[in-house]
Amino acid sequence: MSDLSAKAQLSDSKDCPPCSAKPVNQKMLLRQAHLGEQLTIRRALPHRERRMIGAWCFLDYFGPLHLQNGHELNVAPHPHIGLQTFTWILEGEILHRDSLGSIQVIKPGQINLMTAGKGVAHSEESINPGSTLQGLQLWIALPDALRNMEPEFIHYSQLPVLHHAGLAIHVMVGDLFDVKAPTAVHSPLIGLDILAVEYAAVALPLNPKFEYGILPLTGGIKVEGDSLDENTLLYLGRGRNELVLDIPKNKRFLLIGGEPFSEEVLIWWNFVARTKEEIKSATDAWNSHTHFGDVQGYVGERTLAPIMP
Ligand code: MN
Repeated sequence: MSDLSAKAQLSDSKDCPPCSAKPVNQKMLLRQAHLGEQLTIRRALPHRERRMIGAWCFLDYFGPLHLQNGHELNVAPHPHIGLQTFTWILEGEILHRDSLGSIQVIKPGQINLMTAGKGVAHSEESINPGSTLQGLQLWIALPDALRNMEPEFIHYSQLPVLHHAGLAIHVMVGDLFDVKAPTAVHSPLIGLDILAVEYAAVALPLNPKFEYGILPLTGGIKVEGDSLDENTLLYLGRGRNELVLDIPKNKRFLLIGGEPFSEEVLIWWNFVARTKEEIKSATDAWNSHTHFGDVQGYVGERTLAPIMP
């Protein structure tokens, strides 16, 4: 996915309330954003009140979208630097192409992980008329030592699923109960997709050094006895050893977390950087069609970067 807004705003990871060392319950409403002309999505991160959770620095929830012509989601070639894009599908399929030559359809239960490093370009398109599409795309900020690494793309066709107290838990990133995800990330992180197969009243173990966030995906759940709806991201801060949850049958939610990201990060449009000069340089390189490669096989125009503020 992409920030396609013509008025992309500069987001500084330190211009929100500091990461709390103690447990908090900070609720933040998701905002609407647009991907192309046909698709409205909900954006949870970055938020004015919370820019990052660990190295997770961007969180879009798209759909459910009922595809008529199959091509309603059409994110034309655009560049990234300094991050990993992490795509997780709840329903439907998306076709990914990138400037490394990767062509990959992603289905539910799979991950597309594209490490931009010093620069990569990609496109994302829905397929299959008549189907329904919904899913998540997150970005993970790369630490300073690796943010200029060579780009790479990895498709994970299967992730470990753990069954615990009525829950089916996809371990997408990190580990839980000694079950470890294969996903190649570069800072201490966790990402879980949790579905209640039966009504579940459960205490999930947390790492007190991690900060966490929870997003309901298919209707409301209860966190520590408090109701949380699917338009709200709940930020939990740090310092918890466990989290008490009441999850109705068939409800599903995302739990993300990580060690607080100590480096100050600047995000603008599709770039994660440290200085405005780096962002300006990446913008000029993309718009002048240098540095970033071409996305092979995509039919249509590239997305040009907007004017930097
Ligand atoms: Mn993208």
